[in-house]
Amino acid sequence: MSPHRPPATDPVVSAGPQVPVELTLTGPPGLDSAAGRRPASRRPPRHLADLPLAQRRAAVTELGEPPFRASQLSRHYFGRYTDRAEDMTDLPQTSRDALAEALLPRLLTAERELACDDGTTRKTLWRTFDGALVESVLMRYPDRVTMCVSSQAGCGMACPFCATGQAGLTRNLSTAEIVGQVVAGARVLATGRVPGGPGRISNVVFMGMGEPLANYASVLAAIRRLTDPVPEGMGISQRSITVSTVGLVPAITRLAAEGLSVRLAVSLHAPDDELRDTLVPVNRRWRVAEVLAAARDYTAATGRRFSVEYALIKDINDQAWRADLLGSLLADDLAHVNLIPLNPTPGSKWTASRPADQREFVRRLEAYGVPVTVRDTRGREIDGACGQLAASAAP
Ligand code: SAH
Repeated sequence: MSPHRPPATDPVVSAGPQVPVELTLTGPPGLDSAAGRRPASRRPPRHLADLPLAQRRAAVTELGEPPFRASQLSRHYFGRYTDRAEDMTDLPQTSRDALAEALLPRLLTAERELACDDGTTRKTLWRTFDGALVESVLMRYPDRVTMCVSSQAGCGMACPFCATGQAGLTRNLSTAEIVGQVVAGARVLATGRVPGGPGRISNVVFMGMGEPLANYASVLAAIRRLTDPVPEGMGISQRSITVSTVGLVPAITRLAAEGLSVRLAVSLHAPDDELRDTLVPVNRRWRVAEVLAAARDYTAATGRRFSVEYALIKDINDQAWRADLLGSLLADDLAHVNLIPLNPTPGSKWTASRPADQREFVRRLEAYGVPVTVRDTRGREIDGACGQLAASAAP
């Protein structure tokens, strides 16, 4: 993609919910596209979103600027969602050019943008500075706007029903690469390019590519950046952030001790170890009982209910007895089950459950007093639904 492409208006038009729409990219505004640079190191360049405000002040001082410039820059980035020096008219011209270049490098370049659901679901394929591809999805609902973000390029957890899991792990994303996905979504929303008028991101779910708890330090810092108030961060409520994990028990325990009130979701997908060993291979290390015990401890420490994610796969994990087993495991918990009709990945031998089996699964869980919801399949037509994020750049 040419960094010199002239800005185009973004036609969020959709021919209906079933037809994905390729959106015209507005081109990376401001700094040159990062895609052309090929540093030897695979560490993304330093960005202010990698640093807490105190360290941003130190970095600004090192550049010979007064420390308060760190807050000014941060307000532009976290409050007005811009990294373009020319937007920062409260800074002297020479300072803003130098500061933006040093602290606001463009880390993600939009490679493709697709919309469906009449433009209220938008998936972006991003290219990182070293050529890795990651995806994020913005979903606007009547009462909220959720950004689904990636925490890794690829994923090492190898769940056989998940498109990302099939591709393996490329690398961890940096804090700023994670936060940048949300800032980009916030920018698009604020400008009114998403039908429904200008809006704000209310929720963030770590349910894009990657296992967030396998990239613990960057994800934790990203949660702080997302939730600390402007100018330290973006000011999204901790309660509106969901970290979804395959069940890395020591990391769940660690997260519980951070003093946060983010929501935890555990991807169970089977109530019995025998099947879960296949569906979520990391189960061979941490069993169902250990994962649930860690989730309960998380709830005890944070006061937040945990959610259990369960992709319903026809004739694999959707039997009535498994619903009963899951219900009995969770009957005494402050837990909520989120059933996800399987989004079949290309070449998958598995498919979503029959509607009658799904209904029976719900009914049985409810009989144990377990709250259940069935997740909508937003973004399906643009391969933006759960487990479909595979970062293919092919048109
Ligand atoms: N690594 C994290 C985030 C994964 S994506 C985790 O495992 O929780 C968020 C959810 O989508 C997970 O529960 C994941 O198991 C589920 N998922 C993955 N592929 C899917 C598919 N093809 N259909 C339905 N859900 C899927």
